[in-house]
Amino acid sequence: MARLKFYENERIMLDKLGFKPRNNRITEKKHILLVIKKLCKHFKFDLPDVRFYGNSDSGSAKVKSRVIRLDHNPSYQVVIHELAHIYNHDNDLDGEKCHTKKLMRTIKKFAKYIMKKQYWVKPEPEPVNP
Ligand SMILES: [Zn+2]
Repeated sequence: MARLKFYENERIMLDKLGFKPRNNRITEKKHILLVIKKLCKHFKFDLPDVRFYGNSDSGSAKVKSRVIRLDHNPSYQVVIHELAHIYNHDNDLDGEKCHTKKLMRTIKKFAKYIMKKQYWVKPEPEPVNP
């Protein structure tokens, strides 16, 4: 699926889900890392290397080296999108392609989990070191 079309479908899917924090950007780095850590723990995959760069609401994932790049103030949507790339690669779901239906399913799963936990409402205390 073409990149832009995927993003559009992703937005529609998250809207239907009622994913309110879609446009909320996470300002605290420790909170960003906490959300990532919670997702990794719940969905049973290893923490990727997380790097921060820039301020546009965008990110990227290098699945083979397990590195995700986020801007300094990313939205939840970007965080779960990039993390979903890592999860799908770890679980060998996408093959050689990256923006697949399986990726969309993973993003949905992550979004539901975040909604259930409401991490954006009351962030939990800082976790112990990884
Ligand atoms: Zn992507």
